[in-house]
Amino acid sequence: MTAPFEAGERGIFLDSRGRRYLVRLEAGATFHYHRGALPHDLVIGSQEGVTVHTAAGEPIRCFRPRLFDFVLKMGRGAQIIYPKDLGPLLVYADVFPGAHVLEAGTGSGALTLALCRAAGPDGRVVSYEIRPEFSVVARENAETFFGKTPPWLELRVGDVREVAGSGETFDRALLDLPEPWETLSALGDVLHPGGILGAYLPTTGQTQALVLALNEGPFAQVETFEVLLRTWHVTERSVRPDHRMVAHTGFITVARKLAD
Ligand code: SAH
Repeated sequence: MTAPFEAGERGIFLDSRGRRYLVRLEAGATFHYHRGALPHDLVIGSQEGVTVHTAAGEPIRCFRPRLFDFVLKMGRGAQIIYPKDLGPLLVYADVFPGAHVLEAGTGSGALTLALCRAAGPDGRVVSYEIRPEFSVVARENAETFFGKTPPWLELRVGDVREVAGSGETFDRALLDLPEPWETLSALGDVLHPGGILGAYLPTTGQTQALVLALNEGPFAQVETFEVLLRTWHVTERSVRPDHRMVAHTGFITVARKLAD
């Protein structure tokens, strides 16, 4: 049995149309939206999954946010990696509990949160961000999502290439920055043999430049794909794909580090 909602934590409120609102619960506060108003006190102390009603009788369902809900609603400096791409990145780059993971750039921290979850408290996530103001946003997002910054996460301000020569080594390296091929010689120094590099890039030109650089070595099993996710409308009367979908986010490339 999970604990009831407490003041200070985030809830996801779902209205009868399926719209989602991320709300910080505060005693005495009121949530206002276009269909009415709801006192937070109806939610605080209730079990997750509770249905509460606005004064006008509109039902609101309350849950704790999934990582998915949180990253779509959290504060942003840089553009995030969307949930549809986060899952495959974790699986194709094989981020396991206990993994030592290098990430760059941190950006708003959507991938950072997913990496922290996947690597877990026995792992380590070191994330570089060249712009200090983005690193601040990511730290706030991690604190909000986990309740405090996970002790196994280290956010560093600087160029990821500075990691070469630090003496540290990593099992995995996840890159979401515009010119990842420029970082490969630094990463080659810190990624274990057999380690996996995963990169996310928005355009074909960048993807080609990365793949050609990876093929120069010391990497093998270089694979590129994109993820097309189509949601469906399912009711008694009709079952069909939704009219809209996200047509393009980015391309994912994974590669394995060869031994010397
Ligand atoms: N994956 C992030 C978004 C990253 S956006 C998320 O899901 O929220 C790309 C980021 O890389 C930008 O914030 C940019 O400032 C940073 N960046 C670019 N080059 C870098 C480098 N060489 N080292 C570290 N960070 C870099």
